[in-house]
Amino acid sequence: METMKTNCPICGEKNVMDVVTRTENIPYFGDIMESLVSCTKCGYKHTDVICLEQKEPVRYALTIQKDKLSTRVVKSQTATISIPMLGLKVEPGPKSISYVSNIEGVLNRFQDAVKTALNLFDDENSQKNGKNILKQLDEVRVGNMHAEIIIEDPFGHSVIAHPEVDKRKLTLDEIKSLKTGFTTFEQNEIES
Ligand SMILES: [Zn+2]
Repeated sequence: METMKTNCPICGEKNVMDVVTRTENIPYFGDIMESLVSCTKCGYKHTDVICLEQKEPVRYALTIQKDKLSTRVVKSQTATISIPMLGLKVEPGPKSISYVSNIEGVLNRFQDAVKTALNLFDDENSQKNGKNILKQLDEVRVGNMHAEIIIEDPFGHSVIAHPEVDKRKLTLDEIKSLKTGFTTFEQNEIES
């Protein structure tokens, strides 16, 4: 683990930002570097995960079971993560974050997202759907229901690190249909 101080780009104060970097070896994957910057003055925080090796476009699928909850998961900014059986999907966008977690942590993130949605949409249908998904997430967590978790990453910077994971290269068509989180403009699409 390495720590250094730098200037904060957000509040402009000099030598107030802590930068902590750490490398970790993820089984079946390789080395990654995690970085955390936090400003002691304005409180700005940002985490990032960088994959240190060149990778191929990849798709991982794993059936979630109780004994697999501690399986390491790296989700990069460019990855799409989904549990199709529950209709849950997080696609990359400008605010996407990358993280290192495990299957249980991913389930928690989905749970939080559904709870947030329940607070935002108070119509009967959304409430019913949301509560139903929460119930199913609990069933998956305790092992009463077997759902598949899928990560698709056109840059290959993500992994579900389990020996039984179903791993294969993404096809070109699949890559084209995925979002990358980058804003791109094609010249001929901009018409005045
Ligand atoms: Zn600051």
